[in-house]
Amino acid sequence: MFLWKVLWNPQDYALAIVEHPPLGAVTLWLMILAAFWVLIVEALHTKAGAQRNLTGFRSALIGVPPMLLAVGLLLTFLTLGMMRWIGHPLSFEALFCLLAFALAPKYVHWMGFPLREISRPALYIWRTLSAVFLLAIAVRLWETFRAAAHLPGWQTLLAIAPALASLLAVSLMEIFLKPTTLRAAYSWRRARGKRVVVFYPPGKAAADAEAMAKESDALVGQIEQFLEVRPLAFRIEVFLFESPEDMRRLLQVKHRLAHGYAYNDHIGLLYDSWSEIKDTVAHEITHTVVMQRLHKHLMPLLNEGLAEYGETQTGGSATASICIPLSLSTLAHPGVFYDWQEIEAPDYSPGAKYAHAAALVDYLIGRYGMNKFKELCLQTAYDSQQNRAAQFHKAVVEIYGISLQNLEIDWRREWIGSGQIEFALDLPDAR
Ligand SMILES: [Zn+2]
Repeated sequence: MFLWKVLWNPQDYALAIVEHPPLGAVTLWLMILAAFWVLIVEALHTKAGAQRNLTGFRSALIGVPPMLLAVGLLLTFLTLGMMRWIGHPLSFEALFCLLAFALAPKYVHWMGFPLREISRPALYIWRTLSAVFLLAIAVRLWETFRAAAHLPGWQTLLAIAPALASLLAVSLMEIFLKPTTLRAAYSWRRARGKRVVVFYPPGKAAADAEAMAKESDALVGQIEQFLEVRPLAFRIEVFLFESPEDMRRLLQVKHRLAHGYAYNDHIGLLYDSWSEIKDTVAHEITHTVVMQRLHKHLMPLLNEGLAEYGETQTGGSATASICIPLSLSTLAHPGVFYDWQEIEAPDYSPGAKYAHAAALVDYLIGRYGMNKFKELCLQTAYDSQQNRAAQFHKAVVEIYGISLQNLEIDWRREWIGSGQIEFALDLPDAR
């Protein structure tokens, strides 16, 4: 009750602090202790020999209170200077506490931060609330300082000016900060399926989007089945962009635009009729399922080959063709495989690389089975910069009991033997 009273009506408490400096000092020290509490606990934890492995949320939890304290101290010094100049000195502790209580709504406001990432309408609601909070804090600063220091109006305005100006700057920055999720970055329409949610641009037919959601549901099931993995526990978000410009801007793509993109829990591609986008959707969903169920960073050669394989397994028609003279050992390097992202005119088109990778994956799974292939994916996946070719050689010997060179010779021979040799370098673009 006391805390509620203090937070809701800080003027009384502020007056008490001004009149009883020790109360201000105690409050200040409690606040400092609270701000550093997590740091202290963390330090004791580390001293006790515990492993330090901070997640983003925990490090934010630890970092924010001291940061707020630093900002609070800075504001106090600024206001202290202003009060002295006006000729109404207050003790440092009293001022700090006055500011802390007057700014209390800001904490509530920060807790509402996740709202801005949910959707476009939620972002607008958050922005409106931000403006309301800002107004509430301004009124509260005004009332608190008038009550605490018995200042006339213009002097109150001067006294709160530094705090108010800083708050205004921070709040405006927050209000115009771009949301970090795709959901909130654009005015999407939604179509919910059982396994996916399709986000499509306004102006497109809802019935089409719903049909796409249904078709995508089926794709997710098929992909999980051929990969022999547990079903995902969430709906994959499928973002269909209105134009290449929107796609580039919203996905923040700098290199040459691919047909589609896959992330941890969502995929993105251009809006078109289902028959036009089906293969790309299957390709990207395969990437996402692989990221969730196998590994986040597969070797690109295997990753793209597997995604192309996903297209054919779901009834699509990805081209599989041995069409690159470079050795598998060379193509194991991401910089070589994805060179089209960096240079304008690569020696081999992205489409040729993908078809080549598809032919390899098709051969490996067809001949040795999915389990061994998954093992190969895991052993050649990477978390840091390593010698990929060496890793690839080692894994192939361990899993297939054959050297990478011999595997490549067998593969190329079999392909030629089956009459499927093709040197089509002018293949569709990458995804
Ligand atoms: Zn891909």
